[in-house]
Amino acid sequence: MIAILKPNTSMEQQEHLIHWLKSQGLMVHISHGDKYTVLGLVGDTSHIDVELLQSLDIVDSVKRVSEPFKQCNRKFHPDDMVIQVGDAKIGGGNFAMIAGPCSVENHDQIVEVAQAVKFAGADMLRGGAFKPRTSPYDFQGLKAEGLELLLEAKKITGLPIVSEIMNVNHLDLFEHVDVIQVGARNCQNFDLLRELGRTNKAILIKRGMANTLKELLMSAEYVMAGGNENVILCERGIRTFETYTRNTLDLSSVSVLHELTHLPVVVDPSHATGVARYVRPMALAAAAAGADGLMIEVHNDPIHAKCDGAQSLKPAEFHELAQAVRRVREAIAQ
Ligand code: PEP
Ligand code: MN
Repeated sequence: MIAILKPNTSMEQQEHLIHWLKSQGLMVHISHGDKYTVLGLVGDTSHIDVELLQSLDIVDSVKRVSEPFKQCNRKFHPDDMVIQVGDAKIGGGNFAMIAGPCSVENHDQIVEVAQAVKFAGADMLRGGAFKPRTSPYDFQGLKAEGLELLLEAKKITGLPIVSEIMNVNHLDLFEHVDVIQVGARNCQNFDLLRELGRTNKAILIKRGMANTLKELLMSAEYVMAGGNENVILCERGIRTFETYTRNTLDLSSVSVLHELTHLPVVVDPSHATGVARYVRPMALAAAAAGADGLMIEVHNDPIHAKCDGAQSLKPAEFHELAQAVRRVREAIAQ
């Protein structure tokens, strides 16, 4: 349920109402918009008398929120969420370019790629240390050592880092990781999501390959229900009958998610297409569709990459792409 307060409501009146709502066993989320303050009420609202609430002097209107996702619902927060990660901002008109290799392989590789993507204008460096591979015989990532190397690249370049967590027991290792990624395969690992909700890190949740947008939002809700509002959503393609691409990029998700939620939406055309030459057109399309950021796999030697080389751009290709994305963003801003 949401209660929209009238513009001239005093702090004291607001506090008084919030106190009463809390005494009814509800959690109250406050969103201060330009004109209105929106109180988002979470919990069992069935016993709340809507007409009584509506009749209060300071209440403009009351609406029941029928969707099962509440805290990530735009009705709770009409304004876009802006998430600050180091010097980078994402959401609310701030665009973040996240780039780097699928996996951290060694010191020189990650530092070289980090410097290259920074030079190209990337805002954050990605790199997997714990890799969720379909085959147990494939490279599983450098794990803790991979995170150490990523931190070294962060120190050298100043870029905030993004890395995937697979197991909740590894959380301590992610202390200095700026954005914790929940991969497509863990999109509905509810224990993991709940635990990440107890941190104050930015959490990037990738859409599961067979998850609806409602399910993705419910995953975000798990994190937010624990008190962590710093959630970034990532469209990375879903599985369809098509086989020429690794997945099918559902670009309409950007528009739908922007309508349903105030959380920033990033698009990953690398995992969506699985083919390096398709990454550029899909990245530009995502920027044109109004995505709040892109996640692009970049490798200094894609042919010898230990993971996802076929979809990785070379640094020069990424540089050109980053410039093209800027031009698209300028064009749609006009
Ligand atoms: C990744 O980002 O390297 C990754 C494994 O992505 P996804 O979870 O989308 O498959
Ligand atoms: Mn990958």
